[in-house]
Amino acid sequence: MSTSCAVPIAIIGAGPRGIGVVERFAANLPELAADVPLLIHLIDPHPVGAGRIWRRDQSPLLKLNSMAEDVTMFTDGSSVIEGPITPGPSLVEWADLVASGDIVLPPHSAEVAREIATLTGNSFPTRQLQSHYLEWFARRSIAALPATATVEVHESWVSDVQDAGDKQVVTLENGEALDVDIVLYALGHTGIEPDASHRELIAFAREHGLGYVPPDFTADADTTTIPAGEPVIVRGMGLASVDLVVLLTEGRGGRFVRNADGDLDYLASGAEPLLYLGSRRGVPYHSKIASKLVSPRVAPRFFTAEIAAELESTRERLSFRDDVFPLIAKEMLWGYYHELFTGHPDRVDSTWAEFAQEFDTLAWDEDAMRELVEITVPDPADRLDLSALDRPLAGRSFASRYEFQQHLRGYIATDLHLRSAPEHSATLALFYSLLFSLFDLGTIIDSPKWTARSRVEDLAVWWLNYFSCIASGPPAHRLEEWLALSRAGVLAFLGPELRVRADGDGYFAASSPAVPGEIIASVLIDARLPTTRIGASDNPALRSLVESGAGSEEYLRDDDGFGGTTGRLEVRRSDARLLDSAGQANARRFAIGPYTNAPFVGAFSRPNTNAVSFRENDRVARAIIELASQLSYEEAEAAVADA
Ligand SMILES: Cc1cc2nc3c(=O)[nH]c(=O)nc-3n(C[C@H](O)[C@H](O)[C@H](O)COP(=O)(O)OP(=O)(O)OC[C@H]3O[C@@H](n4cnc5c(N)ncnc54)[C@H](O)[C@@H]3O)c2cc1C
Repeated sequence: MSTSCAVPIAIIGAGPRGIGVVERFAANLPELAADVPLLIHLIDPHPVGAGRIWRRDQSPLLKLNSMAEDVTMFTDGSSVIEGPITPGPSLVEWADLVASGDIVLPPHSAEVAREIATLTGNSFPTRQLQSHYLEWFARRSIAALPATATVEVHESWVSDVQDAGDKQVVTLENGEALDVDIVLYALGHTGIEPDASHRELIAFAREHGLGYVPPDFTADADTTTIPAGEPVIVRGMGLASVDLVVLLTEGRGGRFVRNADGDLDYLASGAEPLLYLGSRRGVPYHSKIASKLVSPRVAPRFFTAEIAAELESTRERLSFRDDVFPLIAKEMLWGYYHELFTGHPDRVDSTWAEFAQEFDTLAWDEDAMRELVEITVPDPADRLDLSALDRPLAGRSFASRYEFQQHLRGYIATDLHLRSAPEHSATLALFYSLLFSLFDLGTIIDSPKWTARSRVEDLAVWWLNYFSCIASGPPAHRLEEWLALSRAGVLAFLGPELRVRADGDGYFAASSPAVPGEIIASVLIDARLPTTRIGASDNPALRSLVESGAGSEEYLRDDDGFGGTTGRLEVRRSDARLLDSAGQANARRFAIGPYTNAPFVGAFSRPNTNAVSFRENDRVARAIIELASQLSYEEAEAAVADA
């Protein structure tokens, strides 16, 4: 059949999710609609596959925050999906295939070739390398489509989609207008228009000739005008801050070198500003872990997929803080102490069996649990305090800024040691318990029973931040670099509960209740990603969706009067169809990705984890194919009737 009677489909956004759905088209079409011709319009101003976040045109210094063995674009035996499983290489396996010549890459830089030759499963790859992997995946997925499906790429932003009878008119910023039957939004991470507080800071900075950078994707934020040698207040110590520090130090010509003692030194170029970093916690996220377990991983006991299912089926309402987090917290302690007691028995005063028996009966945060640990684990450094792990500076105060700098350097050095030394392998067990709890939580994450408070404040906000801080922080070498920068006088720490004020005399001032004094600067950077608020999105396609009423921001309410917005676009869980402001499912439009209210996945899929995004990609691809099939059949019937 020719593509002239093909069903036209627009995929807006050709990043990892958009192209992931194309891969699912290729897998599902032969089974579901072998003879239905499709014309797939892939629309994105950024490269197909890599998209905006993973485009190659960004600093080669920026890296993934995941290890090469933990990233895959392919379904595998663990994937519980209706469509066919089509296995393929993870990022590290792909690099091996490129190194062996089994996969041929288009021309690439010498740095990328070097990285491919030396990449291991534990490496933190550059974003440039990930870009190659994603673009290769996109080429392969498009090539795997049956001959009945054709792809057209449009390098442009979409500004609007309108209903026009049976058609959807997709307006592109390059002036094109596409008449299509089906639209899939895969817009990924979108920014927001500055809110009132950011607008005030922007106006203040403009009025006084200062610099202010609101929350943004660090690779996109313009930091080139920040002057060398000037103090800069950086609000935020998470992953956006890590990227920012790289760009303003090594990215400005500085170099890290290992000295004779094995420590890292920073050789400044002189082009760096003076970076002052602070946040609510006042410390960076915990480093990634490089140790190995001594004992086999203990079976989870307090929060498993079965326990989650039981909770879900027996409760009328599910509260994350009351029903689920206490079980996850106990699971974390269970994993940690199992490794300590069985892997390092010389450091405890009881057997694992005795400890476990008593542990079983106690809640994670009760005094008796603390007493049990104090009696059986003599060294305080071996005791796991979950509250201190999250907020290590809570209740602390320091006599001077100097004392605080020393303290923080010691804190980071200790964190690096705890997360890499073989004798502290219990931190790895803690990580696994948290990670597998996250996966098990994934099995009930789309339950309709969650309270509004859980959905609005906890699951995609508090819990995600907690998880990121403990289990998804920067690679160790980034924190080692922060220590070197701190010793070199290029980076300093501001303290917890950071306060920043815009002083009428024309400067920004930062302070912390835990540290004396104020730091004055002419530049303030909010180093964090924009919050998801689709009603205030800077993405024209999303804005027009909300303004037209075809899509709506999710607002939830509890019986106790609590109400709030998740900031996300409402979609129907079963097939990712858009829900309009009246809750009606749109027949022709679908949406996937982090700005929707479908279970949030903040990272690439790991192999063998029945990844949520693969399940959603498969569901939406099948729903679109079924709709396309139906439309194609109706069109053929109409043609016969006309004849
Ligand atoms: C800064 C950052 C760093 C990250 N680092 C990691 C990491 O190290 N490890 C990890 O596992 N995960 C990481 N993630 C998680 C990330 O969610 C996924 O890796 C992935 O990028 C999500 O894919 P996506 O296709 O949904 O979104 P995106 O990658 O954002 O792709 C969406 C695409 O849609 C396009 N688009 C949007 N609006 C329009 C429009 N109106 N018209 C046309 N095109 C449009 C964009 O240009 C973009 O290319 C990171 C996320 C961010 C934001």
